[in-house]
Amino acid sequence: MLRIGCHLSIANGYMSIAKETISIGGNTFQFFSRNPRGTKIRDVDETDIKQFQDYAKEHEISIILAHAPYTLNAAAKDESLRKLAVETITEDLRRMEYLPGNLYNFHPGSHVKQGAEKGIAYIAEMLNQVLKPEQTTTVLLETMAGKGTEIGRNFEELKQIIDQVEQKDKIGVCMDTCHIWDGGYDIKEHLDEVLEEFDQIIGLERLKAVHLNDSMNGLGSHKDRHAKIGEGEIGEAALVAVINHPKLYQLPFYLETPNELEGYAKEIALLKAQYLRN
Ligand code: FE
Ligand code: FE
Ligand code: ZN
Repeated sequence: MLRIGCHLSIANGYMSIAKETISIGGNTFQFFSRNPRGTKIRDVDETDIKQFQDYAKEHEISIILAHAPYTLNAAAKDESLRKLAVETITEDLRRMEYLPGNLYNFHPGSHVKQGAEKGIAYIAEMLNQVLKPEQTTTVLLETMAGKGTEIGRNFEELKQIIDQVEQKDKIGVCMDTCHIWDGGYDIKEHLDEVLEEFDQIIGLERLKAVHLNDSMNGLGSHKDRHAKIGEGEIGEAALVAVINHPKLYQLPFYLETPNELEGYAKEIALLKAQYLRN
């Protein structure tokens, strides 16, 4: 069964997002752990969580993915910003344990001209502060488009972070198709080779989720502008090949395409209809 969903707002709680997911034909979802532009957070609503757990079981919703605020920068030059990243992610991971066994994704960060090596060391330092042996959440590093001084612009940079992490069993990777395309990985013409490269550098066993997006820009553009499935430079056929690939088809896929609910429902239906594996 295709595990697919999209990014939705959790402003009204888990039950609300779960019902929206079912209404558009999905069976998983991604949400911001808190206001993406700030660090404010809602109180934990245990009643909502309990209802959601029953509903998720009944409707076979699983592998939900929380996305950290993208304004966090664990690689920042300013110590107080690095500290904020540690505190925010620590608190988010504590909350994730109310729904054990799910995923938490974050943008590695930007080295802001300190150099990638220094940025990478800071990110690993943050992870070594927040990852706990007893946690059940897997924390994912997102592959980035390489805009500005973004870290995670290639597989090597993610590998360098992972190498410095102590709790290696808690760390994985989320592959964003728009980002890696923009980063120069040709998943349209050479998907097998790109995955081979990922396997050799990082190891495919670390790949836990896919952000399925088309891209408004060309291969290697380093822009990070998502397009609807089939309306960008990657194209529908290549993205359908991603969900059916023997090394990927069992992963959860999350759409982050510029859509309202109706558009997401259409994309989910289109992808389900072209999913050949079960
Ligand atoms: Fe992201
Ligand atoms: Fe993404
Ligand atoms: Zn993006």
